[in-house]
Amino acid sequence: MSLLKTIKQSDTIRWFFFGIAIAAVLSLTVLNIYSLHALRESTIESAKENRKLQLEEYTSRISYNFYQPFRDIRNFDMADLNRSWQTEKRFPLHFKQVLEDAIGDSLYSEIYFIPQQENGCQKPEYPIYKFSTFTGQFNPVYEHPKSVCDGVGISLSGLNTISLDEYRFNNRLDFDAHRSMTSALINLEDKDVVGHMNFQINRDYLLNRIMKPALDAKFGSPESSGMIVWIRDWMQDEILLSNSSEVPYNREIVDIRQRFPGLMDNWVLHASFVESPAVAATHASFIRSLVVLGSAVFVLIGALIFIFINAQKEREFAERQAGFLANVTHELKTPLAVMQAAGENISDGRVTDGKRLKSYGIHIYEEAIRLRKMIDKLLDVAKVDSGQTMVNQAPHHLNELVLNYIKDHNDFITNNGFQIRIQSDDAIPLAMVDSDQIETILNNLIENSIKYCRTDKEIYISIFKKGKTVGFKVADMGLGIPKKAIRNIFNKFYRVENSMTAKTKGHGLGLSIVKNLVELNGGKIEVESEVGVGSEFTITFNALMQQSYIEKNRDEEITQTKEYA
Ligand code: ADP
Repeated sequence: MSLLKTIKQSDTIRWFFFGIAIAAVLSLTVLNIYSLHALRESTIESAKENRKLQLEEYTSRISYNFYQPFRDIRNFDMADLNRSWQTEKRFPLHFKQVLEDAIGDSLYSEIYFIPQQENGCQKPEYPIYKFSTFTGQFNPVYEHPKSVCDGVGISLSGLNTISLDEYRFNNRLDFDAHRSMTSALINLEDKDVVGHMNFQINRDYLLNRIMKPALDAKFGSPESSGMIVWIRDWMQDEILLSNSSEVPYNREIVDIRQRFPGLMDNWVLHASFVESPAVAATHASFIRSLVVLGSAVFVLIGALIFIFINAQKEREFAERQAGFLANVTHELKTPLAVMQAAGENISDGRVTDGKRLKSYGIHIYEEAIRLRKMIDKLLDVAKVDSGQTMVNQAPHHLNELVLNYIKDHNDFITNNGFQIRIQSDDAIPLAMVDSDQIETILNNLIENSIKYCRTDKEIYISIFKKGKTVGFKVADMGLGIPKKAIRNIFNKFYRVENSMTAKTKGHGLGLSIVKNLVELNGGKIEVESEVGVGSEFTITFNALMQQSYIEKNRDEEITQTKEYA
């Protein structure tokens, strides 16, 4: 199988694996981001659930305070209580104890009893009875808070909806708009109501001594609980309590509402979620993970691309090398074939005519020169590649080296119809360079300017000093080099692919040799070029700044522009 075919096949395989590797990295990344996201969402969701639960716990804890004093009533025999009231207008001592305990709790400030038979709320001629903690008895009153009879009214209408026949408990509790709690005392034996016990609620105590401490204990600061809680009276449009003095109530930011089950219909808990430490930590860890993941993916993809590009470059190099081998074999064979044929004709004695003999001689000479140049270049490359290039550096004036080169190659330049224009700065410092290698550099650059020319056949060489450096430029007004090719022209075997360069002979070795030699001499090479305008190669070396050298040589320097035909 040919080398080129093998290269092409491995190229397809490389693309295939590169695609698979990138797809694998990307899908792993997506999977990871998805899992991180899901984890974060579930943490946030569970934090939300947890907060909801806290609100529910709070409301049921508050509710518990209301019902607590009524637990013991269930143990009483209502028939007995009824009898006691009917006969003595008082309740037995142990019942009195329950009432005293209830009022001692201070959630309830006063207790009224409204007997069913002489219902003072329904029949104004009867009084209602107010509990005195002092005597432990109920005393008749005619002036009483409105909430007493409202509560009794609610309780009665509530009872009407429940058939007493089916009623299982000896009392039934009804709550009236934050003002009172009414307990209907039911005689289960006779299936009738003994009366109503109305407990007036101490609102201040409820808010400040029960709800506020419970709110603080349960939710603390918004930062610690992760939410701002407001208790709002929606009828009065009033905020009663909050765990944050800083954030005013705003219905826009409310995330959740919670009622007090069966109690305080006008009061609602509103909560707005702020970032709790747990959620904030989840957010931070999510961001951290994303950054780490992103960097890892970035590095991984970068490495993949790097490997791929490198492989691509190697492939191109191998391709160029393969092309070069075929080409060079042909290039070596052609001059040899010409020389062989010419030599054969002469040695056979077939050519005797002086003119033809001369022309055969010229042919052999020219082909030999071509062959030599070619072999020289190949040897240069081989030497650089094997690290055998010897550098004989010595202090030189670059302008002298340039002038010498032009003098020696004047014929070659003018025979090609070219003119060289030289310009030099004053007092050019010395540079440590190998003069032979500078000649090779100039040779390659000038040959290229000649090979890739258009109509303007002029080459500009300028020798300059700049800071601590010294160098020269070789510029032409030739074909120019396309932008995307510029970074490759110093690569071995690289040739710009277009119809104009295709016509010229070359193997893409000249500039690679130039660059290597420049670097071996501690210099650097830069190129500026535009298609259709021309190219300019700039070579710079460190200057030897010894003043003595500069002064000694100043007189000999070229101080003005010289033109050479
Ligand atoms: P070669 O000239 O043998 O092809 P080089 O290494 O000297 O190889 O040059 C590499 C490529 O750079 C050339 O093929 C040519 O396309 C481009 N190039 C070099 N010098 C010039 C120039 N002065 N003007 C335009 N193109 C140039």
